Parts: sequence; C-alpha cells; structure tokens
Amino acid sequence: MKWVDAIPVAEKSCGTCTMCCKLFDVDWLDKPKPAGQWCHHCTPGRGCAIWQDVPAKCASYYCVWRLDPDLGPEWKPERARFILTHAHEDAPLAVILDAGAPDAHRREPYWSALLKTARQHLEGRGSTIVVFRGRRRSLLMPDGEVEIPANFLLQEIRIDRYERAGIVTYKAVFPAGRAA
Ligand code: SF4
Ligand code: SF4
Repeated sequence: MKWVDAIPVAEKSCGTCTMCCKLFDVDWLDKPKPAGQWCHHCTPGRGCAIWQDVPAKCASYYCVWRLDPDLGPEWKPERARFILTHAHEDAPLAVILDAGAPDAHRREPYWSALLKTARQHLEGRGSTIVVFRGRRRSLLMPDGEVEIPANFLLQEIRIDRYERAGIVTYKAVFPAGRAA
C-alpha cells in the first residue's frame, strides 16, 4: 500500500461500513464519545442517522481503504475488522483494532502486507505502523509486533537500523532509565 493523498477513490464508497463511527473517539459531536463505542447517531451496518447534517469532520474523513486504489475489498474495514488510517494524531499510519477482533490484522492477507509496508515505511520515512487495541499500543516491525509499555510516549521510542552482509534489520529502542 502507498502513502496516498486525502482524495477518495471514486469507485469506492462506505456503503454498509460504519467502523470509523465506532473505533475513533469523537469530541466534536453534541455527545462526545470514546473510541470503541458506537456514536449515538450511528445505525451500525446502515450508516449515519444525521447524514443530511453530518459534522464536517466526519464528512471529510476517509480511511486508507477509501484512499488507496490498490487495496481490494478484503481491506474494507467492515470486512477486515480493523481500520487502516492516516488520521491518528500520534502515528502517520495506524491500525485501529476492534475490541471484538484484537488480532484481526494478524490474519492473511493482512499480516504479510502490513509487515512489508512496515519495512517500506521504515526505509522511506524512518517511522512505522502503530497498532492500537484500545489503550494498548504496539509497533509493527518488519519481523513482527513489539508491544509499547503503557508509560512510554510514541515520540520517545527510537528505531535503530542495522545493516550486515546486505541484510537490513530494525530494532525499537525504549528510553533507558525508566521502568517499563
Ligand atoms: S472505516 Fe472507511 S469505509 Fe468504513 S465508514 Fe469509515 S471511511 Fe467509510
Ligand atoms: S455523526 Fe454520523 S458520521 Fe459522525 S461519527 Fe456519528 S454516526 Fe458517524
């Protein structure tokens, strides 16, 4: 998958998907809600009950599946059971998991593609994909997932690159001197 502009693919629509109305925290509504709870305006599987007057922030949001023409129907969040997004404030590319399917991203074809993308991002940007399971967070590294201890900020984590005999590996380094 590529880094894509926030222009949705014309042939893709949300249809029956309402995952972002559940998995994101929303503080711009008349009744704010935390991540993981349905918005009170949402009819799951049908859509937004106030679509004629939908808040601008909702209307302008697109998950990566809506933006990337190369992602097939299996990546649509209602089917994948997770959202791939550029919109998380702490991560340029994030996987947001549903509590009911906390390892959905580890199934194929997702897992191999996400690990490959993690390597591409590390090579190109020096940052990788962050996985959110409610309050739990982890980093997707090319060789697997690394849990982030609760008391570390994402910005505090360094990712070191090693190259030996033409093989490149990466390691997440947490700040020293602070218990995890
Ligand atoms: S998660 Fe993506 S496809 Fe689903 S409703 Fe939100 S923007 Fe549309
Ligand atoms: S207002 Fe509508 S589009 Fe926005 S989160 Fe609620 S249900 Fe979803």
